[in-house]
Amino acid sequence: MKNLCVEKMELGPIATNAFLLWEENGNGEAVLIDAPPFARETVQQVLDREKLKLKAIWLTHGHWDHMGGVADFEIEDLEIIGHKDDQVMFEQPGIMSTFAIPGLELKPVKITRWVEHGDKLDLWGRDIEIRHCPGHCPGNVVFWFKEEQRCFVGDVIFAGSVGRSDLPGGDFAVLEKSIRESIYTLPEDTLLHPGHGEDTGVDLEKSSNPFVQA
Ligand SMILES: [Zn+2]
Repeated sequence: MKNLCVEKMELGPIATNAFLLWEENGNGEAVLIDAPPFARETVQQVLDREKLKLKAIWLTHGHWDHMGGVADFEIEDLEIIGHKDDQVMFEQPGIMSTFAIPGLELKPVKITRWVEHGDKLDLWGRDIEIRHCPGHCPGNVVFWFKEEQRCFVGDVIFAGSVGRSDLPGGDFAVLEKSIRESIYTLPEDTLLHPGHGEDTGVDLEKSSNPFVQA
């Protein structure tokens, strides 16, 4: 298997992490994990630099700061992945406008492929497992790259912290269960890529996260 390249970009009005993935000397395709508002320009610069074409956007969840930039891409050609439990936020993002930046136009996102807990994705010959981790919002999913020992977790868990559970559809007890059952059960040396802030690791969070003990 070829080397997976991961470019982390901190984008949008509240510094949301997006990740562009491609293979070194691969087939020229790229996948974007999360599309914050105004993401396109920065993403396009990386696509041009690496001579890549975007083929899919995988959304960890339906909050505006993770999907508000989708509509700016040429979406006719893209597979857009999300979880059904966030369908209302993808399709009617205006319901979250009181939690967004005033004046920011929130355009709906049409998911072309709904994924569920336990689904497997094939990305350039590698296995990616979907884990559904509600609690921050109803439909947060994480993308676990087994071979690369990385997991893109959206707003489930952060370095030394966890996702807020006070937004509509959030519930701390549910979030705690998701973290214990779907994050802390990943191999200890798995690198975690949260939707905000620095990367962290399963072993580090299990031993020191102050909000959810292993
Ligand atoms: Zn969120």
